[in-house]
Amino acid sequence: MQATDLPTQLRAASLRVTQPRLAVLSAVSGHPHADTDTVIGLVREHLPAVSHQAVYDVLRALTDAGLLRRIQPAGSIARYETRIGDNHHHVVCRSCGAIADVDCAVGHAPCLTASHDHGFVVEEAEVVYWGTCPACTAVSTSH
Ligand SMILES: [Zn+2]
Ligand SMILES: [Zn+2]
Repeated sequence: MQATDLPTQLRAASLRVTQPRLAVLSAVSGHPHADTDTVIGLVREHLPAVSHQAVYDVLRALTDAGLLRRIQPAGSIARYETRIGDNHHHVVCRSCGAIADVDCAVGHAPCLTASHDHGFVVEEAEVVYWGTCPACTAVSTSH
């Protein structure tokens, strides 16, 4: 996936290759877990005229097409990443909101097999580990 260039990724998803789409994909791939405002800022470094709405639309189109994964931990704003398809998990700092990737503990997606699925067909398990990041831990222990 990483070896595929961005225009090829767009075409493979049946999306027209446009400058805003390329800029958004490239911004998110360079800044995993970027929120919408961060993506807008990065895109405007290359395309100063692009509107907020255009970036929102591109984020939605790329997420719908499966090129971006949207994550939204409880109480957090939506964030985007290009690491898709592996159902990896996230660790989130309760204090500053920092997010890092955590690989599946067991097997492949869905990595968690429900102990009782209640007859549901389970497609995905979402795991968020909540805690305090090293930077925030250092601050709180130095006071
Ligand atoms: Zn933190
Ligand atoms: Zn991630």
